[in-house]
Amino acid sequence: MEYLEAYAHRFDIIRHVRFGEKVVGLEYVGPDQEEMEAWDLWGGTGDGFAGAGRGVWHVTVEKEDGAKEEHVMDFVVLCLGRFSGLPKIPSFSENKGPEAFNGKVIHSMDLAKMGSSVAAEYVKGKHIIVIGFLKSALDVAAECADINGAELPCTMIVRTKRWNLPDFSAWGISFGYYYFNRFSELLFHKPGEGIMLSLLATLLSPLRWVISKFVESYIKKITPIKKYGMVPDHSFFQAMSSSLFALLPENFYDRVKNESIILKNSKSFEFCKDGIILEGESVPIKADLVIFATGFKGDEKLRTIFKSPSLQKIVTGSLENTVPLYRECINPRIPQMAIIGYSESLSNLYTSEIRAMWLTHLLDGGFQLPSIKLMEEDVKKWDKYMKEYSHEYYRRSSIGIIHIWYNDQLCKDMGYNPKRKKGFLSELFMPYGPNDYIGLGSKKE
Ligand SMILES: Cc1cc2nc3c(=O)[nH]c(=O)nc-3n(C[C@H](O)[C@H](O)[C@H](O)COP(=O)(O)OP(=O)(O)OC[C@H]3O[C@@H](n4cnc5c(N)ncnc54)[C@H](O)[C@@H]3O)c2cc1C
Repeated sequence: MEYLEAYAHRFDIIRHVRFGEKVVGLEYVGPDQEEMEAWDLWGGTGDGFAGAGRGVWHVTVEKEDGAKEEHVMDFVVLCLGRFSGLPKIPSFSENKGPEAFNGKVIHSMDLAKMGSSVAAEYVKGKHIIVIGFLKSALDVAAECADINGAELPCTMIVRTKRWNLPDFSAWGISFGYYYFNRFSELLFHKPGEGIMLSLLATLLSPLRWVISKFVESYIKKITPIKKYGMVPDHSFFQAMSSSLFALLPENFYDRVKNESIILKNSKSFEFCKDGIILEGESVPIKADLVIFATGFKGDEKLRTIFKSPSLQKIVTGSLENTVPLYRECINPRIPQMAIIGYSESLSNLYTSEIRAMWLTHLLDGGFQLPSIKLMEEDVKKWDKYMKEYSHEYYRRSSIGIIHIWYNDQLCKDMGYNPKRKKGFLSELFMPYGPNDYIGLGSKKE
C-alpha cells in the first residue's frame, strides 16, 4: 500500500483520479459498423486517435449516490482488473447448490472486503469449508485455521492439485535462473520465431523436461504433497507457463499436519442442508460457512462494460481462442481503446508498467501499428503459443515464461534496444526483471 501511495505521489496521479465513480457503460460513437469492418488500419488511419474522421467514446459514469454522468473521450484505457470484482462461482444442478444449504456461502472477495479484524471475527467459531487450492484459497484457509485451530478444522476442497511453492527457488537456485532468462526461453517455441530458434526449441525440449522434473523433485521433498495425495497431474513447466501456482502461506503444511486444515480431493460436490457432499460419497462434510475461492470472471467484466452487443462480442473474441489483443494490449477491431492488465504474468505490476510505457509511446506518435490483417496474424501466433503451453488454460493469456520475448517486441516497437544486459553470458543466463527496463519511458537510447 505504501509503495502504491508513493508511486501515485511520485507521478502526481491522485489529482487525475475521480474516486467513488464507476463506469457503467461505454459506447463508441463514430463511423458505422460497415465502415469499421472495411478498415485496413486500426481506427482507419493506424493512429491512436484515429485522425480527423475519428469517433469518440461516450463513457457513462455512476456516482455513489446513483447519479449518472456522461463524458466524451478520445481514448479509453481499460484496466478493470482480471482478478477482482466479479466472482466466479461454479454452477450446480437444481436444489444441489447453495440454496439447499442452511449455512452461509460467500466468495473469498467478500471476506477480503471485510478487512482483517472483521473477517477474523466473522470466521471465528465456525465450521468452514474452502473451495479451491490457489492463492486466495490458501490464504483464507490458513487464516481460518489460525483462528479456529484443530477443534474446528477448516476443510479445503481441491479439484485440481497445484504446484504451490514455499518460495521462488529450488535446490538453492532462484527460479530466475530456471525460467526468466534468455536461455530458458530457448527451450520452447515462441510466437513469430524463425527457423533456427524453432529448431533449437525442438532440440532443447528434453532439457525443459529435466528442469521441470528437477523443480518438482524439490517441491516434493520440501512439502509433504506426496503424503497428502497432493502431487499435481501436470508438469511444473505447465504451471509456470499458465501462471497457475501460488506461494504457500508460511508453515502451511504444519497446519495440515496438526489437522487445523484438512485437504480433500474431489472433482465435484453438491450442497445439502448441513454442508456439502463430495462426488462418490454419501456422508456430508458439515459446515456453517462455505467460502468459494474459485476466482473471477475477468472476461465477463470486460465484455459487459460495452453497450453495443457487437463490441461485447469482439472484445473477448470466441471462447475457442485467446482474447484477441495485439501485444496483449490493442484489439485490432476496436479503435481508440487499449486494455491493460488482461493478459497476466508472474509479476503483473512489472508487466502492466512496461505495457503502459508501450501504450504512451504509441499515443505519442512514437511508432505506428501494422495493418489490422498483420495484427490479427500476430494475435493468431500468440494464440497458438498459449494453446501449446497453457493447454486448457489458454484463455488466461499468460506470458509468464515468455516475458523477455514479449518485452523484446515492445522494446523494438518503441525503438529501444531489447538486449538490456552487459556481456554475452549475462545476456544469455542472467534473470531478467523490472530493473532491466529502468529508463525505458524517459528518453530514447
Ligand atoms: C489473492 C490474490 C493474490 C495475488 N497476488 C499477486 C501477486 O503476488 N503478484 C501479481 O503480480 N499479481 C497478483 N495478483 C493478481 C492481481 O490481481 C494483480 O496483479 C493486480 O491487482 C492487477 O492490477 P490491476 O490494476 O490490473 O487490477 P485490479 O487491482 O483488480 O484493479 C482494477 C481496478 O479497476 C476498478 N474498476 C473495475 N471496474 C470498474 C468500473 N467499471 N468502473 C470504475 N472502476 C472499475 C476496480 O475497482 C479496481 O480498483 C493476485 C490476485 C489475487 C486475487
